[in-house]
Amino acid sequence: MAKNMQEKFWDSLWTNAQICTAENGYGLIHAGAIAVKNGKFSWIGKMKELPGNPHDLAINVHDLCDKTITPGFIDCHTHLIYGGNRAKEFELRLQGVTYEEIAKQGGGIQSTVTATRNMSHEELLQQSLLRVKALMQTGVTTIEIKSGYGLDWETEAKILQVAAMLENDLPITVKKTFLGAHSVPKEFKQDSDKYVDLICEAMIPRIAKEKLANAVDVFCEKIAFSLPQTKRIFATAIQYGLAVKCHAEQLSDSGAAKLAASFHALSVDHLEYLSVEGVHALAESGTVAVLLPAAFYFLREKKLPPIDLLRQLHVPMALASDCNPGTSPTTSMLLVLNMACTLFSLTPEEALLGVTIHAAKALGIQQTHGSISIDKTADFAIWDVTHPAELAYYVGYNPLCSLIKEGKFVNLF
Ligand SMILES: [Zn+2]
Repeated sequence: MAKNMQEKFWDSLWTNAQICTAENGYGLIHAGAIAVKNGKFSWIGKMKELPGNPHDLAINVHDLCDKTITPGFIDCHTHLIYGGNRAKEFELRLQGVTYEEIAKQGGGIQSTVTATRNMSHEELLQQSLLRVKALMQTGVTTIEIKSGYGLDWETEAKILQVAAMLENDLPITVKKTFLGAHSVPKEFKQDSDKYVDLICEAMIPRIAKEKLANAVDVFCEKIAFSLPQTKRIFATAIQYGLAVKCHAEQLSDSGAAKLAASFHALSVDHLEYLSVEGVHALAESGTVAVLLPAAFYFLREKKLPPIDLLRQLHVPMALASDCNPGTSPTTSMLLVLNMACTLFSLTPEEALLGVTIHAAKALGIQQTHGSISIDKTADFAIWDVTHPAELAYYVGYNPLCSLIKEGKFVNLF
């Protein structure tokens, strides 16, 4: 007699898979199977060790015919909610117009701030949905979204509210970060400390109270916020129970990474100019180094982050798209994997860990996401490749077959 559904162990079972668990390196299991119950991984192992016939064990059984499974990718650094785009500026720069001239004509970040301030929630949502869907089509199941194109309360809040709407509308986990300290708005150009007052005395308390974000980020750089201003913002964030992250050492060595590490930042991001001292500080605090190779590529940077030293001191290296209109207009995590290998000489294995378990750590969710492990959330991608190194190897080819969020197939549109 057929067993009734209640008697089956699992909701779904995927068989005949090569599984890249991202536990201890690739963590490969050949001829493997994974089972899901209530949206979590409940069994992982070799097919031959399954405790019975697959169809007796699970309600749904999917034969993967040797395809490869990886954890769902986590894009741990994006600015993907913004108005307009900067293609015209891109064109002008390639015709030889300088950044300063473009800025004088109202271009650069200011043009994105103006466009974002002028858009409704719905308009921003529609633009951003397309970018999130594109990222999902390259295996992404969790994303971080920063504010930072408002630079006033109303628009910063609008961006974070749209981030929450995206999570409602799509099968994706969204972590929200307040980046009011992205750039000094034109209203405060003569007195950036006044803007920092506003961030610390009004914006951060309200972000915490209304639970609009769970982390605070600062762009610490000569063209943005100073080290003392960054310190003040971090101290306020910690006081209000928010985690901290930092855009650090992108254009110069300001000491921001070391400062962020002293606040036990979840991550410091960019890091082209990170010093030896900075790497040691990260190693001691357990802060993740987030590398953004697509921004490095788009800006045609030459100075490489100190990859060898990060590796030597076992600082976890994550990778992210940095999706933004000015310096990294990309929505492909596969391209990010490839660029991390070609531009930063990461191995394909390091790159894969950079968009899975280390990216989870950069968001503080490594206990529940980022690898294929019992009781973690069953977010994973199924790829038509024979080895996970192929994911970093191809340039512009997408072998994604299916995406699974909390144990359920995602409609990839
Ligand atoms: Zn960024």
